[in-house]
Amino acid sequence: MLAYHGQGVPVLILKEGSTRAKGREAMYNNIKAAKLVADMLRSSLGPRGMDKMLVDSIGDVTITNDGVTILKKMDIEHPAAKILVEVAKVQDAEVGDGTTSVVVLAGKLLENAEGLMDKGLHPSIIVEGYKKACEKAVEFLYDIAVDIDVNDVNKLKKVALTSMRSKLVSGYSDMLAEIAVKAVLSVKRDVSGKVVIDLDDIKVEKKHGGSIKDTTLINGIVLDKEVVHPAMPKRIENAKIALLNMPLEIKKTEFDARIRIDNPEMLSAFLREEREMLKEMVDKIISIGANVVFCQKGIDDIAQFYLAKAGVLAVRRVKQSDMDKLSKATGARIISNLEDLTETDLGEAKLVEERKIGDDKMVFIEGCKDPRSVSILVRGGGERIIDEVERSIHDALCVVRDVLIKPKIVVGGGAIEVELALRVRDWSSTLPSREQLAAVKFAEALEVIPLTLAENAGLDTIDIATELRSKHKQGMIWYGINLFNGKVADMMKEEIIEPAIVKEQMIKAATEASCMILRIDDIISASRLKTKERESGPRYPGLS
Ligand code: ADP
Ligand code: MG
Repeated sequence: MLAYHGQGVPVLILKEGSTRAKGREAMYNNIKAAKLVADMLRSSLGPRGMDKMLVDSIGDVTITNDGVTILKKMDIEHPAAKILVEVAKVQDAEVGDGTTSVVVLAGKLLENAEGLMDKGLHPSIIVEGYKKACEKAVEFLYDIAVDIDVNDVNKLKKVALTSMRSKLVSGYSDMLAEIAVKAVLSVKRDVSGKVVIDLDDIKVEKKHGGSIKDTTLINGIVLDKEVVHPAMPKRIENAKIALLNMPLEIKKTEFDARIRIDNPEMLSAFLREEREMLKEMVDKIISIGANVVFCQKGIDDIAQFYLAKAGVLAVRRVKQSDMDKLSKATGARIISNLEDLTETDLGEAKLVEERKIGDDKMVFIEGCKDPRSVSILVRGGGERIIDEVERSIHDALCVVRDVLIKPKIVVGGGAIEVELALRVRDWSSTLPSREQLAAVKFAEALEVIPLTLAENAGLDTIDIATELRSKHKQGMIWYGINLFNGKVADMMKEEIIEPAIVKEQMIKAATEASCMILRIDDIISASRLKTKERESGPRYPGLS
């Protein structure tokens, strides 16, 4: 890039091949890209939303309507569009639900900003207006939100249900919601008066086959492994568990060693020696009273034989992450050198058992020392269904956690968004006139949620919007859309409830992202390592 100062001597600032888009052009490009992403997600919002089929570069297929999953699987390249992908990811990490909504809302905020810019409003005024409106909306949100009794398991289940209603698995959502609530309640801890929930304590294990209704909650841990030797016991009560992250094998030497064996006696002596060493290893394990061994590495055939002979149940090649979970659940220490192994390193569980699940075998560790370790064994007809069940369970676990940590709820079906829009609109008259314009557009943007929900259900959006607004003007703050009969109804009565924090995060994150995009008036891109397609044209439409 060249710039000239007064005397006409060029000054080189950027490397050759860099591109730049400035001012309005840059802004409109960014808005256009972000809006495209939001438009793509719109049709999958809500219980009547459609699913997307995504095929990745190696042909793997994913079917989902989960916003963050769709965006993660799409290979998005435009920098402004990437900001929206980030927003969905943050929403997922913070609260676990509302990932489609946050992107749809951000897209609408940008679209409205574009309209305001066309009318001559400066982007920084829009940003200012949006920020104030956002702050106010969150304040109103907590004025409206009501407390939820965290001991009311039924209410918690309703929260889980709302998050799952929109998913492929809705036919089974009742039982899945129950599993999610039980799982979260069992890993909940009180740390000096504060509720702490680590969802990593819940192990979700997927196993093809059966039906979604065979999905179960297990009080303990499930390993997708089988007992290593057929002569070993398949069931051990009062298990004493050793966790090893070393192989029960004779190590190969690192350098090439050649041993000359001249006669049969030498060969058998050599094999005997090897067998002795393996036996010693097994004897050590047995001597301290272990009756179950989980090994992260391999177990030699001979070692298997001795373990089986001693009535020990052993599993090999256990994943590192599972070893860590086992250690936490049973209280066992992971050992990397057998000489260090002592009785105090052993963990405990009431039962370790191999069971047949579908055509495969899995090992269950139940009644662990730490009662907080639970697993959800997800079943279902095919890989894609199981994956979607897993994502639905993830959302359900997250929302239950959310309300336990911050026990405030609002209602869904677009009700809260309409109410917030109304209040923000009323409040906006206190702002200076230009910011007021932005705040009014902010309020209007919030209504994109009920409108999209209605649109996806094939309802008449104008009728629905008018009816919703009039109900809310009359103070019926819980009125939203019942998407199953297309009627405007009291969502609190229908118990379509959601954590307030999901809405808070949605509003804040969408505002932040749209403001971030609105502040950009210059896009300077370095030239990339060229690939064949890129050589043929500019990377982003409108940029050159
Ligand atoms: P997100 O990824 O944003 O969570 P979803 O596809 O899960 O998107 O849809 C969430 C929206 O669907 C929320 O606005 C929620 O209020 C609404 N919703 C969920 N269940 C119902 C229902 N039974 N009736 C009406 N709206 C519902
Ligand atoms: Mg959801």
